[in-house]
Amino acid sequence: MEALPPTERTRLKRLPQRGSYDRETVYRIIDGALFCHVGFLHNQVPFVIPTLHVRIGEQLYVHGSAASRMLRTAAEGVALCVTVTHVDGLVLARSAFHHSINYRSAIILGVAQEVTDPDAKLRVLHALVEHVVPGRWQDARPPCPKELAATSVLALPITEASAKVRPGGPGDDAADYALPIWAGVIPLKIVTGAPVADERLMGGVEVPEYVANYLLPDTRRDSDGKAGGTNLR
Ligand SMILES: Cc1cc2nc3c(=O)[nH]c(=O)nc-3n(C[C@H](O)[C@H](O)[C@H](O)COP(=O)(O)OP(=O)(O)OC[C@H]3O[C@@H](n4cnc5c(N)ncnc54)[C@H](O)[C@@H]3O)c2cc1C
Repeated sequence: MEALPPTERTRLKRLPQRGSYDRETVYRIIDGALFCHVGFLHNQVPFVIPTLHVRIGEQLYVHGSAASRMLRTAAEGVALCVTVTHVDGLVLARSAFHHSINYRSAIILGVAQEVTDPDAKLRVLHALVEHVVPGRWQDARPPCPKELAATSVLALPITEASAKVRPGGPGDDAADYALPIWAGVIPLKIVTGAPVADERLMGGVEVPEYVANYLLPDTRRDSDGKAGGTNLR
């Protein structure tokens, strides 16, 4: 896969060894997350809005109400900064200074375009639902034309992007390793709970297998065994 050449805007300054412009790394971070944060300026005020996303090929898609400020502003062609973050652990060092956090994050810069063709929109919405809960699209009632019209879909090309990954334990100053202070990592992860049926569920409706055995994107595996699996490449 061809790399994403760093630009003046995506070149990491601090701890650049943690950075990557490798498309596969950026894609795995995106695909392993349910949601991102979309940053943009509106009337000279910065907003950062959390929202679901899906990647198909080299495009990152977000969707929402056609009335949403984020979608309306982004569709006008304003510059966007999309951030995807996974928090993997708290890193406790011996010194306060070297405390850190383990993470995988990606930042994508660019300008989005609205997807207006109804068939293309439907394909993205299908992919989005399948990204969040694989298997759900075939069970859910499809959007009617009115619902489709009330939904905006935006495509952001992944051409200017960076990843940054901090794994591992603390890195203390040499002298501090002699201090009797606990140091190490508290791993963090999102866990799923047991499904809770809607109180208005019709009698006799079974819990689908994809609900009972739900896996978050980050814990899904590709056919090649890698995490963050999606079948949308
Ligand atoms: C959960 C989490 C917590 C963090 N906590 C802190 C903290 O407390 N203090 C702190 O200084 N830093 C923290 N960081 C790191 C922070 O995100 C930046 O990497 C850091 O501020 C260094 O930025 P810079 O000045 O080198 O780059 P900037 O000049 O800010 O960025 C230049 C370019 O580098 C790329 N870039 C920068 N950071 C990232 C990133 N995280 N992921 C992908 N691309 C990136 C972007 O393309 C950006 O446009 C944290 C990161 C995460 C994910």
